[in-house]
Amino acid sequence: MEKKTIPVFQKKKIRFSDTVATKNALRKLGLHSVCEESRCPNIGECFKNKTATFLILGDVCTRNCAFCCIKKGLPCPPDTEEPSRVLEAVRELGIEHVVITSVTRDDLPDGGAGFFGTTIKMIREAFPDKRIEVLVPDFMGKESSIRIVSDSLPDIFSHNVETVPSLYRAVRSKADYRRSLGVLELVKKLNRKQLTKSGLMLGLGEKMDEVVSTMRDIASAGCDFLSIGQYLAPGKKNHNISFHASEEDFEYLKLKGREMGFTHVESGRYVRSSYNAKRYIHPRKDSAQAL
Ligand code: SF4
Repeated sequence: MEKKTIPVFQKKKIRFSDTVATKNALRKLGLHSVCEESRCPNIGECFKNKTATFLILGDVCTRNCAFCCIKKGLPCPPDTEEPSRVLEAVRELGIEHVVITSVTRDDLPDGGAGFFGTTIKMIREAFPDKRIEVLVPDFMGKESSIRIVSDSLPDIFSHNVETVPSLYRAVRSKADYRRSLGVLELVKKLNRKQLTKSGLMLGLGEKMDEVVSTMRDIASAGCDFLSIGQYLAPGKKNHNISFHASEEDFEYLKLKGREMGFTHVESGRYVRSSYNAKRYIHPRKDSAQAL
């Protein structure tokens, strides 16, 4: 992979007026989005299309991943009204494929799993035809928490492995590679029809053979979908970008992923796990709801 001098943060051009409706809806309802909090480069495009990834359980994270710019510290107790406000935003924005993620809440006994479950159920009851995807933290590998979310039957259960095992200490110091794979494995064990998804970033310092080996581990965990994107440091204090992957790198990994058995792989510079999330799943009958 080619090494270049790297600008700290790059994003697609945003026309402010395109994003106003989505931003206003989030503000009015007092909701956070990972789009804004993580300074996602796709925010202009996604907000223009009236879609956003909801960040529930507050905007303060109990972990300190080096690639992430979300606030770190001791969060406030969760807001019990939040699930109904997410539902209201889904209604107001007319989102068809709802993606919900959260900060990591190691301070809560269930890691916030109950809030995921409540939010999924509320949306499902109000809008049975909407697709719901959750991107969850590792819940410290607790089966009881993973089961709470799994039992709520999201259409896609996603947990990002993010990077190769050799970089965990540097960029995900409070996470554990095997624990993350274990989350994906357990979800399939609990419900073999549950569609699962994971994501990786390139440019944190990994080697290509490590990426391929990590993809194999994720495939072996039974994961259906994979996203691969370029890491773009969201701030000056974040982990440095080690390289920019080429179009050929992304294409190569996409083909490799298909060979490994992933049913859908999105691979490209601006790919994020929630970017164009509805592309991964089409026929409703494939979802966990078909059980
Ligand atoms: S890619 Fe995901 S996180 Fe980024 S702006 Fe779009 S919905 Fe938000």
